[in-house]
Amino acid sequence: MSTIFKRIIDREIPADVVYEDDQCLAFRDVSPQAPVHVLVIPKKEIASVDAIGDEDAALLGHIWLVIGKLARELGVADGGYRVVTNCGKLGGQSVDHLHFHLLGGRQLDWPPG
Ligand code: C5P
Repeated sequence: MSTIFKRIIDREIPADVVYEDDQCLAFRDVSPQAPVHVLVIPKKEIASVDAIGDEDAALLGHIWLVIGKLARELGVADGGYRVVTNCGKLGGQSVDHLHFHLLGGRQLDWPPG
């Protein structure tokens, strides 16, 4: 079932897009948890890490390369940053479309809540 992120990909609802190509989209989280908080999502509708298939290997590799480039472009690569993907109810996932949180610009605590 499609989610709000599919509607962002289709430009049916607005988002502060910072990067786009044929395979993925990155936009600023509407509820930022750090000075830099961007979500990187595949355009393909994959529900979560748990739904990634063998056929998605190249797509996921591409997304990780984009995440690294974005971290550098957004100025958090030197200081350090975190990439998080929540999976399922206990993992804290609230939107069932695979997404990677790129967080940076402040000291991040560990372990997360
Ligand atoms: O990992 P989780 O599924 O909880 O993350 C979903 C994220 O999507 C939240 O950080 C939320 O603020 C963000 N969001 C957004 N724009 C929307 C809806 C949700 O940035 N329109």
